[in-house]
Amino acid sequence: MRRTIRFRFALLILLAGCSSQPQDIHESRFIMGTLVQFTISGVQQDKALEAIRVAADEMQRIEDVFTIYGAHANTVKAFNASEPGDIVMLPDEVDGLLATSLDVAWKSGGAFTPVIGSLSLLWGFSLPEAPVKPPSASNITAARSGVDLKYIERTETGWKRLSTQTMLDFGAIAKGYAIDRGMAVLRAQGISNAILDAGGDLRVIGDHAGQPWRIGLRHPRKEGATLGWFEARGDISIVTSGDYERFFTYQGRRYQHILDPATGMPADRSSSATVVTNNATLADAWSTALFVLGEDGLPLLESRGMQALLVDADGQMHATKLTLLPFHPSVQ
Ligand code: AMP
Ligand code: MG
Repeated sequence: MRRTIRFRFALLILLAGCSSQPQDIHESRFIMGTLVQFTISGVQQDKALEAIRVAADEMQRIEDVFTIYGAHANTVKAFNASEPGDIVMLPDEVDGLLATSLDVAWKSGGAFTPVIGSLSLLWGFSLPEAPVKPPSASNITAARSGVDLKYIERTETGWKRLSTQTMLDFGAIAKGYAIDRGMAVLRAQGISNAILDAGGDLRVIGDHAGQPWRIGLRHPRKEGATLGWFEARGDISIVTSGDYERFFTYQGRRYQHILDPATGMPADRSSSATVVTNNATLADAWSTALFVLGEDGLPLLESRGMQALLVDADGQMHATKLTLLPFHPSVQ
């Protein structure tokens, strides 16, 4: 038995030097259980650092509002602890992200679902004490019984759950939302060229001294290697869900953190799912959905105007025909 929980970053920023411009500013913060990397180009250091400070505060605020972990009280935890049938008032921001999440849940046929909290807590991939073996089949069955949209209802004054096993988890979408909010803050602070990368969930604006940003996509199995790189400019998000982010190996089998709501077990059709679309909130939710759906999910994303790249469980790469950003595969 080997304990292997690690954080791995899906996207690598490849920057070419440019001596006539102010230096790029790079800053990192640990937020939402991951290293958030800011890269800002084309402005003086003090302006960039102040913008990063305000954006990082906003992202930390979002973590506190949405997390189901730690001691900090919030309305999501209050909902998860509520008596079935009791109404819990969720603030507009939580209500809004829940509505977006439910929409993706319907459209993805439940591959992504915000009511997966009981299963997430049972598997425990995001707990401070990382898991070393899978839960029992009976506990998985019990937790999975509440993972169903029919057990959550909106009323005029708030939301109620109908089962103690129905719990919210925004882990597959809140990071994207935090990136969108963080980027909005950077823009409001006068930043026009930046990358905001939260451990594989990324949004870019502008360019890098007139050139496109180069965003490398990591190989899900070969550490340090890339599958290729995107050429990105303007305002676009690239988000990857990967099985190398949090996992453990038990009795020779690999167990990773993206769960298939249909089985309660780690999804096993993919090793990496990348979505390119205009905002990070939707890219985040859909990359998780695509990871669960596997190759069969690509037409669904394409029909919604998203570009996607999928590495299946056998290491084969598949892509939508739709291309929003040029992708240059690495020579393997
Ligand atoms: P991501 O890295 O964005 O794919 O999100 C993975 C996280 O979202 C996990 O750590 C869980 O907290 C949660 N999660 C796992 N499986 C699902 C799923 N099928 N739908 C929604 N959230 C999920
Ligand atoms: Mg996600």
